[in-house]
Amino acid sequence: MERLHSIADTYYRALSTEDQKKVLGFISSMDKDGSGFIDIFEFKQYLKEHGYNDYAGSDIFKKLDMVGDNRLGHSEMLNLFYIILSGRPFCMGCEDFIMAEYFVCVECFQKSSAPVYLCLTCYKNRNYKHSHGINENPLFLDTYAMLECKRLSALAENGQASNAPSSSKTAPSSSKTSTSRRIGAIAFKTFETALGLANLQVELVGAGIAAGIGAGSGCTIM
Ligand SMILES: [Zn+2]
Ligand SMILES: [Zn+2]
Repeated sequence: MERLHSIADTYYRALSTEDQKKVLGFISSMDKDGSGFIDIFEFKQYLKEHGYNDYAGSDIFKKLDMVGDNRLGHSEMLNLFYIILSGRPFCMGCEDFIMAEYFVCVECFQKSSAPVYLCLTCYKNRNYKHSHGINENPLFLDTYAMLECKRLSALAENGQASNAPSSSKTAPSSSKTSTSRRIGAIAFKTFETALGLANLQVELVGAGIAAGIGAGSGCTIM
């Protein structure tokens, strides 16, 4: 929780004084009894009223309670807002809230409103069942690899990297070559740790390196 808190705290401190006051005012509005803290009842009531039932039913209150006094102060509540707004997910395997890095199914990430996420332990121990049609071993990427893929895809969409197929008569630009290599490197790194992904390895590494991003490779987003 410390790492997550430092991110939430950084966001908060980067706000203007006026916006900081708004955030604190909002947190205070949850404090129905005016105690200066949010207790478990106020916490659950707020989450249910705002449609965050997943969070209300989890043991997230305990995790948020860094001090361990069964109540949440303002800085601890900042963590909750960050968690909700940043879309921190739950693990499909153990169903626990994922506090830090995760693996996500690339295909779901692109196409589903509810992608399949896994904590590191469940992914490592294969504590999940997930498939896409005949593909019984969908590709999962970790948080950082997924972010890098998304960045490369955005570059391609903005015309900073060609997404033309390699069969194009135009010679590949250096940025395209570089982008393709980066995708290949990400794919290889992933495959080093992911077992049993031979089919997708062919699809991602083959299509990704040969055709660049935007050509239907597993790494392409949107
Ligand atoms: Zn898990
Ligand atoms: Zn999936």
